[in-house]
Amino acid sequence: MKRIIGYLKPYIPYFILAFILIAIRVSSELSLPNLMSEIVDQGIASGDMAYIWRTGGMMLALAFISTAAIVLMDYFGAKIATGFSRDVRKSVFHKVQSFSGVELGKFGASSLITRTINDITQLQNFLIMFTRIIIMCPMYMLGSIFLAFSKDVTMAVIFLSLVPFLLAIIILVSRKTIPLSVTIQKRVDKINLIIREKLSGNRVIRAFHKERYEEKRFDEANLDLTNVMIKLQKISSILMPAMVIVLNAGTIAVVWVGASKIGQGALEVGDMMAVIQYIMHIMMSLMMLSMVFIMYPRAAASAERVAEILNTTPVIVDAEEQKEPTASRGRVEFRNVSFRYEDSDEAALENISFVAEPGETTAIIGSTGSGKSTLIQLIPRMFDVSEGQVLVDGVDVKDYTQKDLRAKIGFVPQKAVLFSGTVASNIRWGKEDATEEELVRAAEVAQAMDFISKKEKGFSERIAQGGTNVSGGQKQRLAIARAIVKQPEIYIFDDSFSALDFKTDANLRKALAEQTKESTVIIVAQRVSTIMNADRILVLDEGKLVGCGKHRELFDSCEVYREIVLSQLTKEEMA
Ligand code: ADP
Ligand code: MG
Repeated sequence: MKRIIGYLKPYIPYFILAFILIAIRVSSELSLPNLMSEIVDQGIASGDMAYIWRTGGMMLALAFISTAAIVLMDYFGAKIATGFSRDVRKSVFHKVQSFSGVELGKFGASSLITRTINDITQLQNFLIMFTRIIIMCPMYMLGSIFLAFSKDVTMAVIFLSLVPFLLAIIILVSRKTIPLSVTIQKRVDKINLIIREKLSGNRVIRAFHKERYEEKRFDEANLDLTNVMIKLQKISSILMPAMVIVLNAGTIAVVWVGASKIGQGALEVGDMMAVIQYIMHIMMSLMMLSMVFIMYPRAAASAERVAEILNTTPVIVDAEEQKEPTASRGRVEFRNVSFRYEDSDEAALENISFVAEPGETTAIIGSTGSGKSTLIQLIPRMFDVSEGQVLVDGVDVKDYTQKDLRAKIGFVPQKAVLFSGTVASNIRWGKEDATEEELVRAAEVAQAMDFISKKEKGFSERIAQGGTNVSGGQKQRLAIARAIVKQPEIYIFDDSFSALDFKTDANLRKALAEQTKESTVIIVAQRVSTIMNADRILVLDEGKLVGCGKHRELFDSCEVYREIVLSQLTKEEMA
């Protein structure tokens, strides 16, 4: 909470300006009843038209000043609120960028989105209300009470005796609304999650004819949200009528006492009218304040949710002191590495040790779920090892800055990801200032040139959001080109050739061998044919390294490997 409030600091001058403007507004508005009572008690009583005009003119001028003040105040209020939400959103975005898989998994993408957009908007709305109501209403109330006392003590006391009742109403209602507000934000999260899944899984939903199911799921979540909202509104709606009843009762009492006083000649009509006007001001202020009591809990819940992001320290942080590489360029070493995912009981990797040397190709094979993707994600430090060490160029990956470490690595993930833009802009992710020639070379190696040149606009061809307008294999090849144009020390391919036909696969590996003569290449693959010629093959089985060697050795010595090979290759191919 403190953290969020800290973001208001730069806006203190605006708050002061708004405060002054509000003070101007309140004092000019509160002078009006007094002037009116003077017109009634003195002007009309004596029939002095000039006096009436003069005082009336003054009232008009004050009304103008008050209007101008409120317009300016709203301007500064908006500046505070939108500026604040921009700053917070920027920080949140920045923070989320620093998150590793652990933190992303903890919050979940949909909750992160709701928090960045919806929750911060709640805070923004609350701030607009804050300048408008929370500063202004107490001023109105204090001023009105003071002026009412100066007009007539008895009437003011009658009125003040209502305050405990009003406070009791507000406290009762807000005690019910606070927990509901927290629930609302959670339900918004849920809706967001369903919509995201629905949009990204649209094709699968259609293919499996699950539209009904999805609709039902959405309806349920939608109804859940609606129900809490209705409950909240129901409770909140008690607030206004209850307050109006109390306040009107007070007004009646004031008129009652006032009338008898006027009858005794102890009070003038204009003064009673003025007191009633003050009461109206207090009423209006209290009603507006009661809205705050409805909105505050929601804003507080949102602030909490945003602060939760800002207060999260990513588990993967840069080392304070970086170490200089000691080994040759591109050497990757695993030393007794074990790894367990945060939310899982079993180790995904157990005691893995191997070395991948520059100029060599290290292949990793194993059934699905054996831990291949997990293993290679430890190299660019997407996750930190639970035990043991991962070394790149002889230095623990924890002793690099993440930027330096990842600059050494060209990573092609199992699921190729493209971004909206063009073919060229997607490849240039690997190297921002890549020349046209470099792009072409990378695309040639990645076997992407043939389909790029077939496109009408070539490298300028548009790529849709998520790369939905290219095929799976084309996507993979562009992702590969992106890694190649970077010319990294270490190439990592996570099952990146699986969507390619055998011929393209073979051509790609041949071209890649030329390109990566001095680099370390780590390939995860399903097909034995892809990795047969690797300098070193690692065989993973349920997170354990069950074999390490060349194709021939492993075929003779490693049961798991032999099974994989036999299931894929014909006799001639094996020889
Ligand atoms: P492979 O790439 O060999 O198919 P993975 O490395 O993706 O296998 O997965 C290895 C094991 O770790 C699997 O049992 C999988 O369920 C688990 N796993 C993968 N990713 C996560 C994750 N983010 N959180 C928890 N468990 C995971
Ligand atoms: Mg995998």
